[in-house]
This record gives sequence, structure tokens and C-alpha cells, in this order.
Amino acid sequence: MIPVLQQPSQPDKKLHLQEVSVAQCIGFSEVMPEHEETLITAFLNTIQLPEYYSDASTWTVADRYTAVFWYAMHTQADTYASVPYQCPHCQKEHHHTFDMRDIAAEYRSIQGASYREREFNGKTIQIHCLNGEDAEALQLMRLKRDEYAEDSPEYRAENAKIRVHEVIFRLILPNAQAADAKREESDRTEWVMGMPESQFKKLKALVDSCESEMMHGVPLALNNGKFSLKSPPHICPSGKGDASTRLHLPFRCVEFIPRI
Ligand SMILES: [Zn+2]
Repeated sequence: MIPVLQQPSQPDKKLHLQEVSVAQCIGFSEVMPEHEETLITAFLNTIQLPEYYSDASTWTVADRYTAVFWYAMHTQADTYASVPYQCPHCQKEHHHTFDMRDIAAEYRSIQGASYREREFNGKTIQIHCLNGEDAEALQLMRLKRDEYAEDSPEYRAENAKIRVHEVIFRLILPNAQAADAKREESDRTEWVMGMPESQFKKLKALVDSCESEMMHGVPLALNNGKFSLKSPPHICPSGKGDASTRLHLPFRCVEFIPRI
């Protein structure tokens, strides 16, 4: 039995999850590992009790990662993980071994709604948390970027587009026509793309500050369109660095999804 989970972005809503069957695990194996956000949507839509179902592509990314994490912590016998990394303090290769349950120590419910209203350049804009659909759109952009060699100009251009869209996907402009999603998205994109670069930096800083105000669920990092869980803070085992230079290592959520 998996205990009922409060939805981190909507604390008055509960998520009811159940363990997957062998047949369902075989279905997940069909999804390419690099389509991880698609896999997370399929997984969460499968494990919900049908009478409480809501489409996980509409949940915030933090809701999704928290639910997968919750599922894993209640179904896995071994909750220890070991993440290899190149240490920025002593330049050696270490392994950070930790109990994944410690990730939950930083769990938080959202304060207020999952969006904020702010003034920017005379417009009242809404800044909201990225959801599953946004994460899947970023995943498609990453797949397109990864068709190019990592040191090529095309790769760098696609990567820059991803970073700009991490901002665009969080915005809702005034008078947005919800009925015409395509038009609404092209208006947002046009507005941001036409902005002077210095204005974009200000917009990005505004988005980041709203994001930390709205932090909820388990701690996540977003790097170049890719989300990861942050491992519990960690200090260099060679004794370089101190408590003020604690590391958070990226940790892929998709590894929690059972496959046979
Ligand atoms: Zn070290």
C-alpha cells in the first residue's frame, strides 16, 4: 500500500497511487529512456487510482517528481544511491552515497498559488510553475539539440533556445486567449524574442525569484531544459571545502520508474 500523498502544488488535493503490475512495467520498457518526461507522464497516469485520476501532464514538474519519488520510497527495498562526480574542491572523482529518503528532508508545500502576478515593462504578467507539458516540450527541444555534435554552432544555438524557452514557458501575458493556445504561445515567444538582451536578463531574474518563492515538493534543479532531483547536501570527503560549499548532485527521477 502506498500512503496517500498531498499534491505539493495544491495541498488540498490528494494523490492516490498504487503499485504497477508486471504487464504495465513491460509497457514502460517500450518508452525510449531519453523520452523521460513522456515516461513520467505515462507512469503517473498508470499508477493513479482511476476514481481520483487527473492527467499528470497538467501537474507541476515538482508534483510529478515528488510523486515518482514517493512511489519509489514506498516500493523499493533499498533506498541507498551512489552518484559518481568530479569534485570541484579537490578535482578527484568521488562517489556520493546517500539514503534517498534524505531528499525528503527539503520537502515543502507551496506557499500560495502556483503562479505569481508581476509588473514588467508596464505589463501585468503571470509567472507560473512549469508543468508536465512544458517539460515534454523542453524534452523535444533537447532531442533536436542532441542531433548535433556538442561543440557545433548548431548545438549551442539550440541550447540557447532551450534556455530562453525555460522562461517563455513560464509566462502568461495579459489578454492571453486561452481558446487559441498556438496563437497565445507565438505571442509570448515573439514578445520575449523581440526584447533587448538586458531586458531579458531582468525578466529571467524576476522569473527565478518567483520560482524560489513558489518552491514546492522535493528539491529540483533545471539545467539546459533537463530536470533532476538534488541529492542531499554533501561535503568533499577529502576535507576540501566546508559546510558553506555543500554540493547538490543531480539525480535522475526516471531511474525510479520500475522496468523489467
Ligand atoms: Zn573532493
